[in-house]
Amino acid sequence: MRYFSQKNDNTNEDNTGNGVPYYKQRLCKCGCGLSFYPRRKDQVYIDRQHGNFAYNHGARKRKQKAIHKIEKCLRRNERILEKYFAAGDGNAAICSFISLAAEGFNPDFFTGLVSSPEGTYNVVYKYAFLRGKYNGHSIIKIILK
Ligand SMILES: [Zn+2]
Repeated sequence: MRYFSQKNDNTNEDNTGNGVPYYKQRLCKCGCGLSFYPRRKDQVYIDRQHGNFAYNHGARKRKQKAIHKIEKCLRRNERILEKYFAAGDGNAAICSFISLAAEGFNPDFFTGLVSSPEGTYNVVYKYAFLRGKYNGHSIIKIILK
């Protein structure tokens, strides 16, 4: 006959003596707050439903959050391009890149590329921008896509 000692009580697994493994009650990993007696050593959810819930609200939610963050950066870029394009002659606007950057413009976020004889423009939804140098200053040309 085996008894739990203070020492092996910290382990998750023991044997009832009749061949049926016994696992200590554990908290479902989905965040529901319910406890259960696992049937397997590696069982972390009460059942498949709780596992699916964790899947839908865990990894997927984190992914959606990451996508949302990128979309936010793109929308901010578009807003800034729109504002500076409006200050141009209607065909294009050439501005100091520093000014756009100061408002939060981040050239690493764009939705596509478009080639032109001048170079490759980065597209942000409706607008496209091309970076360059003028008299040692970093400039940006903005056009409608
Ligand atoms: Zn659960």
